[in-house]
Amino acid sequence: MVPDKIVELVIAFHGHLCPGLAIGIRAAELALQEMDSRAGDEELVAVVENDNCSVDAIQFMTGCTFGKGNLIFQDHGKNVYRFYRREDGKAIRIAQKADAAKRKDPAYQTLQDKQHKAGLSDEELERLNFLREERIKKILSMDLKELFTLKEINETPPQHANIYESVECEHCHELTMETRTRRIHGKWLCLPCYAKQERKI
Ligand SMILES: [Zn+2]
Ligand SMILES: [Zn+2]
Repeated sequence: MVPDKIVELVIAFHGHLCPGLAIGIRAAELALQEMDSRAGDEELVAVVENDNCSVDAIQFMTGCTFGKGNLIFQDHGKNVYRFYRREDGKAIRIAQKADAAKRKDPAYQTLQDKQHKAGLSDEELERLNFLREERIKKILSMDLKELFTLKEINETPPQHANIYESVECEHCHELTMETRTRRIHGKWLCLPCYAKQERKI
């Protein structure tokens, strides 16, 4: 289990505690156990197959972050997290089990659907919050083996984050990474300016 102090820091970073964040906290815990290193720079690379709340916990706890380029998003809509350790090539795949943490608790689902469609009475809201908190507590305390499948994978880590020159867009004059410029009417433009020019044609 992750110490309360760390959980509090993750909540402060993300803004609230929710089931998604709890999943991310546990996935990060498992990754750190298996990989035995936090990504100070880029020694650990994460590939996340979703962009939900869980990824904030992954970023905060493992040090694989969007800004450093060692967090790669693949839009598969799955709670799957892959980690690669550069020094020895160890790679793992963590996937949330379909039946983990009463994912399909009907009472919870019904209330949640109603909340989105019609709103809830005070009692219903209280009930939903209670069930939600129970679910979060369960995720945070349950055995990692019940929550996730874990396997080692035989894959090379994704490439290092590239660093490119910045060039000035000849229309808005803002600096733009050179690989993100397009040439039109003899000028190099940033993508937003290029899109505007294209619409004029
Ligand atoms: Zn959240
Ligand atoms: Zn521009």
